[in-house]
Amino acid sequence: RASVGPKYLTGLNPEQREAVETLDGPVLVLAGAGTGKTRVLTTRIAHILSQGRARPAEILSVTFTNKAAREMKHRLGQMLGHAVEGMPWLGTFHSIGGRILRFHAELAQLKSNFTVLDVDDQVRLLKQLLQAENIDDKRWPARMLAGLIDGWKNRGLTPSQVPSGEAAMFANGKGGKLYASYQERLKILNGADFGDLLLENIRIFREHPDILRQYQQRFKFILVDEYQDTNVAQYLWLRLLSQAPSSLTSPRLRGEVASQGSAIARPSDAGEGDSPQAELVEAAPRPSPLPVKDGEREKSKNICCVGDDDQSIYGWRGAEVDNILRFDHDFPGAKVIRLERNYRSTGHILAAASHLIAHNEGRLGKTLRTEDQDGEKVTVTGSWDSEEEARGIGEEIEQIQRQGDKLNEIAILVRASYQMREFEDRFVTLGLPYRVIGGPRFYERAEIRDALAYLRVINSPADDLAFERIVNTPKRGLGDATVQMLHDHARKRRIPLFEAARAVVETDELKPKARGSLRDLITQFDRWRAQREVTAHTDLAQIVLDESGYTEMWQKDRSADAAGRLENLKELVRSMEEFENLQGFLEHISLVMDRDGGAEDDAVSLMTLHSAKGLEFDNVFLPGWEEGLFPSQRTLDEQGRAGLEEERRLGHVGLTRARRRAKIYFATNRRIHGTWSTTIPSRFLDELPAANVEITESKGGSAWGGTGGYGASRFDDMEAFGSSYSTPGWQRAQANRNRGAGRNGGGRSGFEEEASTFSSSSSAGPDFGSF
Ligand code: ATP
Ligand code: MG
Repeated sequence: RASVGPKYLTGLNPEQREAVETLDGPVLVLAGAGTGKTRVLTTRIAHILSQGRARPAEILSVTFTNKAAREMKHRLGQMLGHAVEGMPWLGTFHSIGGRILRFHAELAQLKSNFTVLDVDDQVRLLKQLLQAENIDDKRWPARMLAGLIDGWKNRGLTPSQVPSGEAAMFANGKGGKLYASYQERLKILNGADFGDLLLENIRIFREHPDILRQYQQRFKFILVDEYQDTNVAQYLWLRLLSQAPSSLTSPRLRGEVASQGSAIARPSDAGEGDSPQAELVEAAPRPSPLPVKDGEREKSKNICCVGDDDQSIYGWRGAEVDNILRFDHDFPGAKVIRLERNYRSTGHILAAASHLIAHNEGRLGKTLRTEDQDGEKVTVTGSWDSEEEARGIGEEIEQIQRQGDKLNEIAILVRASYQMREFEDRFVTLGLPYRVIGGPRFYERAEIRDALAYLRVINSPADDLAFERIVNTPKRGLGDATVQMLHDHARKRRIPLFEAARAVVETDELKPKARGSLRDLITQFDRWRAQREVTAHTDLAQIVLDESGYTEMWQKDRSADAAGRLENLKELVRSMEEFENLQGFLEHISLVMDRDGGAEDDAVSLMTLHSAKGLEFDNVFLPGWEEGLFPSQRTLDEQGRAGLEEERRLGHVGLTRARRRAKIYFATNRRIHGTWSTTIPSRFLDELPAANVEITESKGGSAWGGTGGYGASRFDDMEAFGSSYSTPGWQRAQANRNRGAGRNGGGRSGFEEEASTFSSSSSAGPDFGSF
């Protein structure tokens, strides 16, 4: 049967085919990594189009990234044999929400050309508000407020709905009020932040049922990828759009729609600071299921969501894995389809990934099998330190390249973005093209550029760009007016800004306060330049960051990303050790910066585990599997067991990106938060099935290994990693080596045996008894 029908359907297995061909009514594809969920979605669009069930502009299709949307469009073209024109509603939640908002901007007191603010803009605006309210930005940093507001928006909460307990978390209960004035300011500036893109949609839909109906009618089909990572706002948005338009004519359903919208404020809600509705969103964010009468079922919307509870990795950003677990509750009559065959990875890789995730308790549990070969085992490699790790991985990549593989088929997935620095430097040294996906490259991060700017001004007082970047960072009362005056001076006399500053402080052109702080800054730079002659460049960098107040600026910042930025700064200072002096270091940086990122046709991909979702590569490198780094200590501290399970899902996501090779690394010594420490291999290593894992020797190495035998050793159980947590890594590694030497790795347990372990781990909740 599978061979009958259009060409794009051939090759699908029966379950995939069912998911593609069940066009009417709600469908959930709940299935593990690499089972073809995304492929099913794409094929489904092809099917809808070729069956003439809808035009391209009548399909709403949500992907997790813009890149994924482009790729989907490309695949669609391949399936249909011609390019697909006009799929305006294929994109991310943000891009689609933004598009809808532009059409109705006036209903949100905006103009259709509104600006979308990035985080920096957001923070700047909040700072002004704090100042106006006389709130000490040092005690209550704007960034922290930005994080709170973001969280509220993710949960669909408008200012009046913020639970009072949470509003109290900022500036003694002023959180909600500041959120409200922030929204007002945004309107005046004709701006929206990311959260608004959806939140304003929801509000407009709620207040203007005619507009909602228009969209409900337009979108004949709705498709959503990565459904496990939707947050409450996204969920509410989908719920509204996915109701059959005719159902709104039923007063009962209208009532339902209204109560569903209760998480979204209307103007009349204003003033209900601690409305119980808001609490409701906390305790039970989901509205009750739509009452669907017999005969109305056909009218319920054609929505198809695909996802995998084991890949839910954005809980920290407000995603609610519950959305997927309750799908058939929210969309009654939903057909739930499970896919069990993994088409991506070889047997060993899949077994390792499945075994790891089986250690989680909060999961539905599912079977995954492959008909692919066992392939190469997952390797685990210990290195002396992170530098050796990077060197080793660099060697392996070159080797893979020599064997004829494309660099495009190689990815390095890190837990923390600061880990990238070492790889970037290594790749520059090797001349190996690379691209960083889902974020700026290390040296392009804002905090790194700031720090570099200080060093550049020390190195070259004529570096105006650098000087301008940091003259008022951190804030020292040298605002735009001062900078403008310096520019005027500099232009007139044809001197660099720094020299202009030196001249200006001798005059009374500046107000005393600005004059004082500019003089201080000049004095500081003169002192640092003098110190440069007698101090190691790494020490100097640290001194500059500390004395300038730059480190302190981030220390006082309580936003979610501040800690990461401080880590990056430490990493920057550390990276300087590899150079003889400041000059050499800065030359290296200009080389790194000069590379035209992303332009390369064939390049290694470098990204965080979070950004890797949905992607696949032949070769996947997974460095830094050490306690504290992965699982991340911060996640464990803040979220306990739930955090650990989310980290484990990240590990699962990482491993399941690999088609042919998955290579895990741990370093025995790593500098975390700037200090060297002996690390403990990640507990996740202990959770890998020995039969699918091979321990190998680092190729980067000097301090380690070297003596024969180690690379060939195999172990029957991975306890070798876990049982000796208290001994320093290198000793344990030594012990492992000795232990492994005489072994020959018993029988092949392979994947089939493991399959029973992870498919039996089902912990289905009541709603899923029927799965
Ligand atoms: P993830 O959970 O990681 O997002 P997924 O379930 O979306 O994975 P896809 O990316 O759609 O999986 O598919 C994984 C790989 O398997 C892709 O390369 C895809 O082309 C291939 N694949 C899926 N179904 C089939 C099939 N029936 N025949 C051959 N290859 C397939
Ligand atoms: Mg996918």
